[in-house]
Amino acid sequence: MHTVELDGRKIPVGKIVCIGRNYAEHIKELGNKTPDKPVIFMKPATAILASGGKIIIPAYSDDCHHEIELAALIGKKAKAVSVEQALDHVAGYAVALDLTLRDVQSAQKEKGLPWEIAKAFDTSCPLSAFVPAARISDPQSLQLRLVVNGEVRQDGNTCDMMRTTAQLIAAVSAYFTLEEGDIVLTGTPAGVGRIRSGDCLEATIEQVGSLTVTVV
Ligand code: MG
Repeated sequence: MHTVELDGRKIPVGKIVCIGRNYAEHIKELGNKTPDKPVIFMKPATAILASGGKIIIPAYSDDCHHEIELAALIGKKAKAVSVEQALDHVAGYAVALDLTLRDVQSAQKEKGLPWEIAKAFDTSCPLSAFVPAARISDPQSLQLRLVVNGEVRQDGNTCDMMRTTAQLIAAVSAYFTLEEGDIVLTGTPAGVGRIRSGDCLEATIEQVGSLTVTVV
């Protein structure tokens, strides 16, 4: 059983639901189209890597990218909830990385195939400990910063999300039930780029915390 920490408690993780293309500048940098509905995919709990852990880039890729994202932990069942109710279902927030094998993803996209082999591999979801939601004054006003080997690569703010955390949870919960222990990743700001063997990644979200991982 894979667990995450919330305020010192161990919480078993269900599914990790991820949102693609939720920041305009990131959509531009990858030359993607702006979606009229949220782009949704999932990672299994086996993808989780705790802070201090080591990323293992699969041998079938030569281009693994970092994507810093705000993660929301679901604290109670959410099925077709409204935007107004959505944040009542969030127990906590954490710093996440949605590691992506960009070369593999591009090939899958071209063929119209699903993204899991590019997005859901073991160690593809580094996660910090979660802080209780009550401690975050406004999830749509948080600076996110990713530093690789001392160099700032991503520096964005959750105010630039195209759909808010509440809107995303409401939209996801219309497709499938979110349960306690599920995690929602809310998309990445601009600045994604390649990581290589030996790199040290430090991801920070203000008020939320930080995460440090290295690449094997
Ligand atoms: Mg992402």
